[in-house]
Amino acid sequence: MGSHSLLCLECDLRMEDRLQNRCPRGHDALLRSEYHERNLRVRDLPGMWKFMEWLPCSSPLPTEGEALTYRSEGLAREVGLRNLYISFSGYWPERGGKLLSCSFKELEASSVLGRTRERTDKVLVLASAGNTARAFALLSDKASARVVAVVPRPYLSRIWVPEEKPSNFLLLGVEGGYQEAIQWAERISGLEGTVAEGGARNVGRRDGIGTLLLGAALQMGRLPHHYFQAVGSGVGALAVLEASLRLLAGGLGGRLPRLHLSQNLPFAPMFHAWREGRKRIVPELDLPSPERAEREMYANILSNRSPPYSPRGGVYEALQESGGRMYGVSNREALEAEKLVREAEGIDVDPAASVAVASLLQAIEGGEVREEEVVLLNLSGGGYERVREDFSPLTLEPSMVLGRDTSLEEVEEILKGWGVPAR
Ligand SMILES: [Zn+2]
Repeated sequence: MGSHSLLCLECDLRMEDRLQNRCPRGHDALLRSEYHERNLRVRDLPGMWKFMEWLPCSSPLPTEGEALTYRSEGLAREVGLRNLYISFSGYWPERGGKLLSCSFKELEASSVLGRTRERTDKVLVLASAGNTARAFALLSDKASARVVAVVPRPYLSRIWVPEEKPSNFLLLGVEGGYQEAIQWAERISGLEGTVAEGGARNVGRRDGIGTLLLGAALQMGRLPHHYFQAVGSGVGALAVLEASLRLLAGGLGGRLPRLHLSQNLPFAPMFHAWREGRKRIVPELDLPSPERAEREMYANILSNRSPPYSPRGGVYEALQESGGRMYGVSNREALEAEKLVREAEGIDVDPAASVAVASLLQAIEGGEVREEEVVLLNLSGGGYERVREDFSPLTLEPSMVLGRDTSLEEVEEILKGWGVPAR
């Protein structure tokens, strides 16, 4: 076995990491990485790779990006908190922010590509509402790993790269929303020479984002009392919980941070289910009109209809375990929060980060957070305007837009033209 093994949270089966995203016994539980190194050892490597011991790969990609943590002055003053720390994932070179895709999804993509390329040369297939695909587009050449991303047509403009067009990245548009993209990615990953990336089920995603919490804990010298983040699938929240558990098991004192997770109304299935005390999302009750909700919401990057809420190791359990809670944030609240954070911190943040800021305001208003407590606020994406000052981003064109009449054979032809499966 390598530096880690995988654990099924349902039956405790431990297994070698062969890129699987599910328990071979058919359990719905998430798998979790178990690292042989119990104490956090910081390696002399750039960016997030300094946490290599707790990443599911043995060599770093040639990148320097990581989430940066700093103590807020402006926003802290505005909201009346004495120990507000900001985790910023994006481009902000003045502060050391070097994630060129402007999103914390780059942490996920780095770790997933590292894990994948050491185990297979098959093509990774994923669905994305934009940010994840953009991160993979940026990194696929650096990882020398090939990626097919399926992205809803309305979100294709989000797929840009700062400099060169990548040769290892194939972009497919799809008519419809995120759900249609997920369905197409599933079908394509059944073709020879491809492998499904797995989304939240991929331990690489969670361990990649986990570096955000590790970096923050180093910076703060402790775990925060409270952690705020907007969630679509909840990968980031699960990642923070798992990384915190590792730090606690390794001897860092303190307790699990309380997870404060937010969704953008009206697309808020986890918020609704949680508010009703249910461990399951009931679509008719929690998300009766998903298409309309996706059109109406501001932070549509968060529009995942079937997040890993109920399974063992999923979001519901993470909320229970950490004493956390969920928030529903309106578009108006998100837009006001966005303006506030831009003025107070001096950087542009994306709609999802704005939802997180709005949830912090709700929490303070509701007395959930005390003035002196240590709070970590995840600004999960930003610096989009800043990146345009230094680069001339290039928007990628899809090789094809998949519609109702498109057959899987047509996609297969495109992949063959791209040399997949390898001959
Ligand atoms: Zn199992």
